[in-house]
Amino acid sequence: MLSVWKSKPESGLEVKETEIPKINEDEVLIKVKAASICGTDRHIQKWDEWAANRIGKNIPYIFGHEVSGEIVEMGKNVRGLEIDDHVSAETHISCGYCFQCRTGNEHICENVKILGVDVNGVFAEYVALPYRNAWKNDKSVPHWIASAQEPMGNAVHTVFDGDVAGKTVAVFGMGPIGLCAVGLCKMAGAEKVIAVHPSDFRLKFAKDFGADLSLKSRDADVKKEIMDYTDGKGVDVMLEMSGSPQAFNDGISVLRPGGRASILGVYSKPFEVDVTGIVFKAARVNGINGRRMFDTWYKTKAFLKAGFPLEKIITHNFRLDEIEKGFEVLDAKEAVKVALEP
Ligand SMILES: [Zn+2]
Ligand SMILES: [Zn+2]
Repeated sequence: MLSVWKSKPESGLEVKETEIPKINEDEVLIKVKAASICGTDRHIQKWDEWAANRIGKNIPYIFGHEVSGEIVEMGKNVRGLEIDDHVSAETHISCGYCFQCRTGNEHICENVKILGVDVNGVFAEYVALPYRNAWKNDKSVPHWIASAQEPMGNAVHTVFDGDVAGKTVAVFGMGPIGLCAVGLCKMAGAEKVIAVHPSDFRLKFAKDFGADLSLKSRDADVKKEIMDYTDGKGVDVMLEMSGSPQAFNDGISVLRPGGRASILGVYSKPFEVDVTGIVFKAARVNGINGRRMFDTWYKTKAFLKAGFPLEKIITHNFRLDEIEKGFEVLDAKEAVKVALEP
């Protein structure tokens, strides 16, 4: 089968033929119909410090984790799935026996293995997946859209970490997940949604997802604009999805007393935060990791069914063997999300 490998501890990737994976009795074999490129894959492709530390010992291996495909083979212990089912993958492969797993928090399993990071991933014609991680898709959803449910799930998890109906929400960072968050807040009845991002290109998409106010953080005085927009009250909810320390601190400073901040952004190093400000505001600041298994997936499916336009974040479609073109359009900041089809 055709597959995309991270073979060497340096920038780049390798497209090559390899054996179709063998499944064990708890796995399904998925014929990949679409896979999409995530920020994580870009770190792996570039081989930055994070990639070197996180997966240095795993190479050579097949990367990629966002997927939609069809089940073509099942191990004998598989339940609840059938051959030909369309499925996506929950990418956190949990152990099932640690404290978190046994107390309803599988998404933060202590022994988690991540698809396409710790084990062979989906940039290939076939992938083996534990059947408990397979999420059955509605066959009416095209594979190239269904593949992006995994990042959409991050947005669902972050947005619905609290209430947004009737509230003013500021979303920092208009990556694919931030854009989904804007759209989800609007669909769920948020009163006003403010989108913050450094570039006009992404803010255009935010507008398309229904943002009421778009702020270009490169030029605007974000704090002043948001305080003016909310008549000096501040926002009820702040979602940080950029991984920028500046965005985090701006977000906290425009949060109204008693407000909620949910943080999905990942920061490259520790930074300074005015914790006393958080304390006196009695703000709730929550870290968000992955998707709740599988509560978030049910919600994501329901929003797709209700017409959430997930296809809007997918700006480019390429063949899997053209994957380098996908990374190029992302590097050139011409793309939001790239879907690949074997
Ligand atoms: Zn991803
Ligand atoms: Zn566990």
